[in-house]
Amino acid sequence: MRQSAYFLPTLKEQSAEAQIPSHQLMLRAGLVRQLASGVFSFLPMGYRVIKKVIEILREEMDAIGGLEFLLPALNPIEIWEQTGRVEAMGDVMFHLKNRDGLVLAPTHEEIITYHARQHVKSYRDMPMIWYQIQTKFRNEARPKSGVLRGRQFIMKDAYSMDSSWEGLDVAYDKHYQAYCNIFERCGIKFFVVGASSGAMGGRQSQEFMVESNSGEDTCAIAEGYSANIEVASSAILPVGRIDENLPIEEFATPNAKTIDDLVEQFGIPEHRCAKSVVYIVNDEPWLILMRGNDELNETKLQAIAGTNLLRPALSDELVEFTGADHGSIGPVNLKKKIKVVADNLLKGANSMVSGANKDGFHFKNIDLDRDCKIDEFYDLRTVIEGEPSVVNGEPLRVVKAIELGHIFKLGTKYSDALGATFLDSDGKENPIIMGSYGIGVERVMACFIEQNHDEKGIKWSKALAPYHIHLIGVNQHKSDEVNAACEEVYAKLSELKYEVLYDDRAETAGIKFNDADLLGLPVQVIIGGKNLKDGNVEIKFRASDEREIIPLANLYARLESFLK
Ligand code: ATP
Ligand code: MG
Repeated sequence: MRQSAYFLPTLKEQSAEAQIPSHQLMLRAGLVRQLASGVFSFLPMGYRVIKKVIEILREEMDAIGGLEFLLPALNPIEIWEQTGRVEAMGDVMFHLKNRDGLVLAPTHEEIITYHARQHVKSYRDMPMIWYQIQTKFRNEARPKSGVLRGRQFIMKDAYSMDSSWEGLDVAYDKHYQAYCNIFERCGIKFFVVGASSGAMGGRQSQEFMVESNSGEDTCAIAEGYSANIEVASSAILPVGRIDENLPIEEFATPNAKTIDDLVEQFGIPEHRCAKSVVYIVNDEPWLILMRGNDELNETKLQAIAGTNLLRPALSDELVEFTGADHGSIGPVNLKKKIKVVADNLLKGANSMVSGANKDGFHFKNIDLDRDCKIDEFYDLRTVIEGEPSVVNGEPLRVVKAIELGHIFKLGTKYSDALGATFLDSDGKENPIIMGSYGIGVERVMACFIEQNHDEKGIKWSKALAPYHIHLIGVNQHKSDEVNAACEEVYAKLSELKYEVLYDDRAETAGIKFNDADLLGLPVQVIIGGKNLKDGNVEIKFRASDEREIIPLANLYARLESFLK
């Protein structure tokens, strides 16, 4: 491809609209343009990368027996209503104003299950893996990371259908391996974490992550352990009991609204303070008791409650249920009988301080076994950097990460809701056992750039590069010899079926070199008058920025050994 005839609007300056390196470089290298918040146009060079990612996804999905579909983005809302996901998705789902009854699909579990219900009727019809590479729509709040979080994006989404739980395990393991192959082929360094199955239930779920400061996920990792912070736990010791078990006692705390105030004003050790918060879970109030310095993990709470419809209670609700406002609530002396759940670290603790459900007062010497009724204990807290891992006590590292892919044992949630059943070998009717598996195509591209760039530009791997060779003529518009040599090399490389971008523009060498480094094709072949006089050309490998000057006659063998 001749660059003089290509549409490649590169930018010299940083763009004010981009905050992270991949977004910045995709704009500057002329790969994408933003059309609206979270909506991007892929330009020819960017679209070539998208197609390379898609081809790798397709090959690896076909290799595990996946069958490729193309499902519509326009979906009847009834199907989504039957699984309760119109409500669960809330504002994330796009609804159409001028066509009642249709929504834009944010994912496709419902539609797959709908077709499975029509045609997968017997255990003999399974196992099945159905997949597609298709556009999804999600009305993300304030997308700000370029194509990493779009309102319209391409997803490879796959769904497995099995007649047994063992079958689901097999399908899940196949996807796990396929995902490893995909990211390895792309040249992306990744790690896998245990993830939350969220309010959707389901059995097992893992995410494929890229460590990056541009990430919106947080993970806790240590030797032999890795988990999304949404589910991560640690081996930190419980608060426990002290020998001196004094009677419970109320004391005035007029100026203490926070745990820090209690610690400062009364010298109470932080871990002996129990913090109480009230949540409204599916319209029902829950008092949640944690160590004073711990943060409640809402995703864990959602998983326990089996719903994502929960929120902190408002001031007037606090007074209605507990008798006090923020800063004075606790598990003892509640005005109304409400459900009380506590973090595991508080199991059996005594000598605790907590609000007295009377504004400006607290209790001390609370023995959680003796003085209050705790309905259930759960792991509710968010782990903290440095806490010992549950595997071997190694300190946890807490890192930012980007979610590249997600594999999920759904079980029968969708087949139950939509009545997708099959007859087993005994002629008994059972719900189809399903898994769901997704990878974001643009995210693969952006994550690769996050990991492979320098201040000059991108460093494409051979697998994802839009073209493999950047042929650069140095001042060829001023030299017939250089021009002739460039044309000859271009003709030969094209004949050899290499993917070549040929910078034949009448531009200065400086402009061409800067654009070439920005674009980041794996190898640059630089033909200039000085080297040519000695019968040589220069090649530069963008990944290492190493240069070689070699005889023109050896060029094809050298390229073949590098690219093949
Ligand atoms: P996130 O937590 O980042 O919003 P998610 O958990 O909602 O993602 P899934 O429903 O698991 O995403 O979708 C599968 C894959 O699709 C993700 O792993 C990610 O690679 C990609 N993806 C999800 N949302 C977006 C988006 N808004 N823009 C681009 N890719 C996305
Ligand atoms: Mg996910």
